[in-house]
Amino acid sequence: MCMALAHSLAGFATGAALAVHAGQPAWVASGSAVLATITASGRLSPDVDQYGLWRRLDRWLPDELLGAGGPLQHRGVSHWWGWPAAAAVYLSAHAGPWWVWMLLAGWVSHLFADAVFGKRAWGRGPGIPLFPWWFHVGVGLDAGGILERWVLVPALAVAGPMILLWPYAAPLIST
Ligand SMILES: [Zn+2]
Repeated sequence: MCMALAHSLAGFATGAALAVHAGQPAWVASGSAVLATITASGRLSPDVDQYGLWRRLDRWLPDELLGAGGPLQHRGVSHWWGWPAAAAVYLSAHAGPWWVWMLLAGWVSHLFADAVFGKRAWGRGPGIPLFPWWFHVGVGLDAGGILERWVLVPALAVAGPMILLWPYAAPLIST
C-alpha cells in the first residue's frame, strides 16, 4: 500500500498548495488538503478500478474486445484525463464551489503521480491513457521502488504541512 500512501500525501500537498496560492485562510487550506486527500487514493480516486464492483465487472464483461486491454483494465478509462478536464469545464461554467474543485484537484494529483510512477506495479503502462483507455504515456519510474519509498514519500510528508505553514513562516523569514 506504499503507492496509496504516496498518492494520499500528494493529494494533501496539492490541496494545501492550491489553497495557499489562492490566498485562502488557514482553515480553508487545511480543509482543502483533507478534501484533496479523499480523492487522491483508494475507492474514491481513479484507482476505483482496483476495487470490488469494478473488478467484478471487468471479469464478467468482455471489454477486452474493444482492444488495448479494454476500458475496465487497471489504469484504463478511470485514469483518463478527459473526465477531470470535462469536470473542470463544467465547474468553471457553473461557478462550482471551492470544495468540489479540491475533490477534483485530488483526483488530478493521482493522474499526475501515475503519469510519473505508473509502470511496474500492475503490469500496465507506463503512465496513463492519452485516449480513453489506450496509448499510455508516462515517465514510467519504478512505482514502489526505492525512489518512491525513501525520497518521494518522506518529501511529500514534509511538503504538505510546510505548505500549510508557509503563509505564517514566510513573513518571519523575510524580516
Ligand atoms: Zn492509479
